[in-house]
Amino acid sequence: MPIPLKIYITPFAERGVVEPGKWSCDIAKKALDVVNTIWSKAKISFAINDCVIDKPLDMAKSARNNDKRVLDVLSLRHDPDNAVHIYLVNPIQNLSAGGSSYLHSDPEPASFVQWYGDDFANGRAWAHELGHLMSVDHVEIDYTNERQAAALGKNLMTKGLSVGSNLTTQQVETAKGSKLVKRFGG
Ligand SMILES: [Zn+2]
Repeated sequence: MPIPLKIYITPFAERGVVEPGKWSCDIAKKALDVVNTIWSKAKISFAINDCVIDKPLDMAKSARNNDKRVLDVLSLRHDPDNAVHIYLVNPIQNLSAGGSSYLHSDPEPASFVQWYGDDFANGRAWAHELGHLMSVDHVEIDYTNERQAAALGKNLMTKGLSVGSNLTTQQVETAKGSKLVKRFGG
């Protein structure tokens, strides 16, 4: 069974003025195809059980540059239930991360993902965040080690903006053995 996702497309607002949203449920479906292609290497798949356009989140632009804070504010809006909560948001200036997640799905399986303008970039960022929920942390690249840097530079779990979608055998094993996959099957 695929892991169930509940999608909240959350527009930002500032002082009551709502920003036009970039995401739609159709775009989310296309990005999820990319997510599932990436995670098929681990034989893990995800399905959108529900997709809703949420109430706008009024938050000053200057307060959005802390990814943990944005995730906490978003995740507090909906109690944990029997699905992974994914918050899809507009691009955030000055945020180098593609989104944020609770590592090991602790205290709950929730992530937010920024909009990146095309299905592959959106799906890649989303797949990266799901990696964190499945207990896969960032890979550290040692740029003085050319061979290692070349191998890991295309990895899904490099920090910040990247186009890599590779997974190592160890990452596949970590994801398969994670609390999230044990709970939902994957
Ligand atoms: Zn990350």
